[in-house]
Amino acid sequence: ETAAQMQALIAEAAAERRAVQPATSFKPHYDVLVVGAGFAGSVMAERLANDAGKKVLVVDRRPHIGGNAYDLPNEDGILYHLYGPHIFHTNSEEIFAYLSRFTKWRPYEHRVLADVRDMLVPMPINRTTLNMLYGANLQTEDEAEKFLESRAEPVDEIKTSADVVVSKVGTELYKLFFQGYTRKQWGMDPSELDKSVTSRVPTRTNTDDRYFTDTFQAMPLDGFTRMFENMLDHPNIDLRLGVEWEDVRREVTYDKLVFTGPIDEYFGYRHGKLPYRSLRFRHETIDQEVFQPVAVVNYPSEDVPYTRITEYKYLTGQLAPKTSITYEYPSAEGDPYYPIPRPENQALYKRYEAMALAEPDVLFVGRLATYRYYNMDQVVGQALATYRRFKAAEEERQDA
Ligand code: FAD
Ligand code: UDP
Repeated sequence: ETAAQMQALIAEAAAERRAVQPATSFKPHYDVLVVGAGFAGSVMAERLANDAGKKVLVVDRRPHIGGNAYDLPNEDGILYHLYGPHIFHTNSEEIFAYLSRFTKWRPYEHRVLADVRDMLVPMPINRTTLNMLYGANLQTEDEAEKFLESRAEPVDEIKTSADVVVSKVGTELYKLFFQGYTRKQWGMDPSELDKSVTSRVPTRTNTDDRYFTDTFQAMPLDGFTRMFENMLDHPNIDLRLGVEWEDVRREVTYDKLVFTGPIDEYFGYRHGKLPYRSLRFRHETIDQEVFQPVAVVNYPSEDVPYTRITEYKYLTGQLAPKTSITYEYPSAEGDPYYPIPRPENQALYKRYEAMALAEPDVLFVGRLATYRYYNMDQVVGQALATYRRFKAAEEERQDA
């Protein structure tokens, strides 16, 4: 869109923006109302209360804190993640140190196997994967590199999630590991998705079989939910769960709003719905000590409807005679979990972002509010940066 069109959008949004509600005598007043008790909302609330001394009300429509990272024990006392497996990893010392104020950690390096051709092979594709699949005997990185080069199909300009993989490993491995999985997960072909999606998964010529290579890889020792409890445990923070923010906003007054829900929902879908991909989870308790050889097994074939199975004991280190697992079934309907990275969706988001920029008293933070396929650590980083900008602006105002 041209600059002029963007200006017009901003002006239109400014004219219609919902005013914040100034203090009145009969309603409880908060400095900040935070919508959403996930990573984005909880980090913002903690900083605002603890660092800036603000009085904060956090609301969430779900009956619990933690957002999508919420975990809980099942009827047998075995921890599982209600919204699918969450594995913490980051290269940021700052983010790891910040979260370490609220939890101890259990070191955990994530490993994933893919179920292909009746074998379980390492994913990301590495030298072991190649040797197992092709009965090969590639001994060095050099040999594996040459092997992949002989299969790779050059692509002029890497634009899509298909280009990323085909240009590195060729069509056969692309189809085996990526095409079916992606079609299931996103309901569209990798060629229709931005390159950033499959770029999340590397290809290796060594035998490193870890899913992530980040400096810090660990799980909160007592679970994510306990970590969130510690973050939100502050005399300046009030919490209301199982409520829509639109209902709460009538009952209280506040100066600033932090919004971490879907940005298109906030603006009443003015420009149309932003596409989000959802999942249905099938949680099971299995009456055996171990179900599968690693925490996650991926099922890239379109012959099975789920994408992966997670066994939580590997993440938590819990010992028990039974084990908890989750199947993930992708779906178009349901809670918004994944923003769908493709150019037309980004363009639609930009229209909402322009409206957001016209709301100086509202801060949009998190995966849904900024429509970004962010990991947990990236959301924490974004929230900390947003808070720093908020604080700097406040200090500037006070100085003026
Ligand atoms: P959310 O956690 O979605 O929190 C937003 C909250 O706002 C929700 O609780 C919602 O109920 C509430 N809300 C929204 N609208 C309203 C409203 N109108 N009124 C009241 N409340 C409202 N990241 C990793 O780093 N590692 C992983 O292994 C990993 N695995 C994942 C697996 C799955 C299946 C999914 C879906 C995500 C995974 N992620 C992972 C990403 C991670 O979940 C997110 O980065 C993070 O949880 C986003 O936090 P958030 O606060 O932005 O959003
Ligand atoms: N992917 C794939 N096959 C796999 C693993 C991943 O095709 O075995 C693709 C798929 O499109 C997936 C994306 O790579 O959505 C990113 O994978 P990641 O494991 O990071 O997904 P997430 O944990 O965020 O669901």
